[in-house]
Amino acid sequence: MDKTYKIGDKTFVLDEEKAVRAYQEKMVINGRQSEAFNLLPLKYQWAYDLYRKMKANHWEPEDVPMQKDLEQWKSESDLSDNERWIIMMGIGYFSAAEGIVGDNIQHVVRELVTAPELKLVLGRHAHEENIHADSLLYMISSLGINPHECEAMFEQIDTILRKNEFVCRVSKSLRRDMDLTQTVNKQELAKNIFVFGQCMEGTQFYGLFGMVLSLARQNKFPGIGQMFRYTLRDESNHIELFRNLFRVLIEENPDIWTADFKQELYDLMKEAVELEKEFIRDCLPVNAVGLSADEFCSYIDYISDRRLNGIGLDVLHPGLENPFPWLAETIDVKKEQNFFEGRVTEYQKSSSLAEVSDDEL
Ligand code: FE
Ligand code: MN
Repeated sequence: MDKTYKIGDKTFVLDEEKAVRAYQEKMVINGRQSEAFNLLPLKYQWAYDLYRKMKANHWEPEDVPMQKDLEQWKSESDLSDNERWIIMMGIGYFSAAEGIVGDNIQHVVRELVTAPELKLVLGRHAHEENIHADSLLYMISSLGINPHECEAMFEQIDTILRKNEFVCRVSKSLRRDMDLTQTVNKQELAKNIFVFGQCMEGTQFYGLFGMVLSLARQNKFPGIGQMFRYTLRDESNHIELFRNLFRVLIEENPDIWTADFKQELYDLMKEAVELEKEFIRDCLPVNAVGLSADEFCSYIDYISDRRLNGIGLDVLHPGLENPFPWLAETIDVKKEQNFFEGRVTEYQKSSSLAEVSDDEL
């Protein structure tokens, strides 16, 4: 049914069939190409919901006080060399990694997906990577660390280089004009989404998350700990976003999901886990107070199983239990209503004012 508007002596006809077709042609890939950002009607409601959840979690690094961290950093007695080294490795690794994730979203994933609501949430994801990169800059300048040393960390620490090389391998070959009607190219994109979401953000970030939050639990580096908790909360949304994106991509393109392809995913996850374990051993060459490299390695096995399971693959270590139940509580932020205080709540309030209620959509 067409709808006709008569305004003065002009007549405007809206073709409903065209609108319906535009909706049906929304796809993760190979959908309708349009410069018009036609968000409505939404086909991927989850993507829009996630976008709103992400913006409600907005935070800014400068709102986190760093005085206590600086006092500890300067003091001779408060910290061991190993604890300082964990922070150096954390800053060194994430300074490069956040940028790599953001770059891959902007230049690969957001360019190749076609549905506007997916582009919307990916734009927010990319911005959150900017916030994370900025938070590292803020940590470096607050502690007075020589920025050249951080550059040197990701140029010269072999285990950091190898983690970065692993993810860039599945990013560099993907181009904007790639023919995504070919199964092999669709699989390249699916692999990229799997590696970045489940292997990197979902697994390789968790060694350091665990170490830094474990230090914060002992009242060491409270400011950095706070920023890592905010980052971790953002990362859980990124993992969910890439998990959904992956699953819908496979649903719409079942030709991707072959036995060989699944095997490739297992191999990639195994490689990611190996790299992470070597990295953890560089972070904890000696067992610092309450932190053992072995426990962190088994934690990585546990986390990687959760990621495989999340996209419908079998786990590699059936029955393995989480060696750090306290960390699961920190990660499952829904349980901790009062955990994120201060400015974050204010951002939530101001953003909820501008929100459209669900029933209006
Ligand atoms: Fe990040
Ligand atoms: Mn992320």
